[in-house]
Formats: sequence, C-alpha cells, structure tokens
Amino acid sequence: MALNPLLRSLLYLIGGDVAIEVGIELLNSENEDITDEDITENIKERIEGKGIDFEPNDSEILKLNTVRKTLYKLYREKLAQFRRIRDKSTGWFIYYWWHEFDYLEGILLEKKKFVQRKLRDRLQYEENNYFFICKTCEQSNKKYRFDEAFELNFRCPECGGPLEAQENQELIEFLKKKIVLNQNITISKEFED
Ligand SMILES: [Zn+2]
Repeated sequence: MALNPLLRSLLYLIGGDVAIEVGIELLNSENEDITDEDITENIKERIEGKGIDFEPNDSEILKLNTVRKTLYKLYREKLAQFRRIRDKSTGWFIYYWWHEFDYLEGILLEKKKFVQRKLRDRLQYEENNYFFICKTCEQSNKKYRFDEAFELNFRCPECGGPLEAQENQELIEFLKKKIVLNQNITISKEFED
C-alpha cells in the first residue's frame, strides 16, 4: 500500500524519509496494532538490498531508536497513537502503535473553515465600512473608519493633513476571490495502490 501524496509530504516534513517508511508500516498493520520493534524489522526487510537513499541517512533508519523518535513525532502531530503494556517477564513496557491518518482530513477541514471564517469576517468589515487615510502619512498604513475620521474632523492626528476616503473595492474583489479559492480546496483521502 502506498501513501497519498498529501500524507506523504506531510510525513516527510515531520520526520523525513523515516517518517514515510513508518507511515507505510502503520498503514500496512491497520488491522492489528504494531510494536516499534516490529516496525523497525519490517522496514529493514522491505528496504534491504534496494539501495534506497534515505534522509537523514540509511544507517539511521535501521535503528530502533530512530523509529521510536519518529513515532513520537507523529504522536505529537496527532497522526499516531499508542497503548503500552508491561511485559510480565521483563518488566519493560511494550508499545503498540496505530495511525490516526483519518483525522488528517478533519484537521485540514478545520483549518480550511478557520481561514474561510477569517476571510468572510474581513470581507464583511471592508464592505460595511468606509475608510479614510492620510496621503502624506500613507506609509504608516493607518486606516480610519468613518466614525473615527469624523471624530478627528477628517484631519490626520499625526500631521494635521486631510483624511481622504480610500477606495477598497480592489481589496474586496481580492477577498472574494480568496474565499472562492479556499472553498474549492478539496481534500483527497483516497489511498493510491
Ligand atoms: Zn498624516
């Protein structure tokens, strides 16, 4: 089984090639939680003799410790979960892992909704307000709403120059385009074979 491109890039960003390999193992053991030791063994078996170049380097990927660190990174990013069981004979903990890649879609959807809300709030703000600026102090980027400008008698509080109405139609059009673009982002959860 292969990872979808979005997930693959995300894993790479989180932990390089090792994270991609770990991700593949977690997907392959979807029906049964897997220990970090088995993940390491499986990766070794899979890549042996293939001459694949790994980031950070191929000797690192074969170490149990690297796999553990990577799993922990995925856990921190909410892409993996574990339960631990104490081995009665050795007294050590055994960690069983599984992926939570399905949440990825939810996380991205939340982000999309957040951006959408911000854009819509800003659009509404721009549409509902007239803005005034001082052309002399234009670099300062200070905008005054109508009521603020009125209070100031349409005089710039910094230089005393006149406050003039600012055209925000371009910004409004820009925001509308961004909203449509953001809305059209679709998140594929298909896994490719
Ligand atoms: Zn001014």
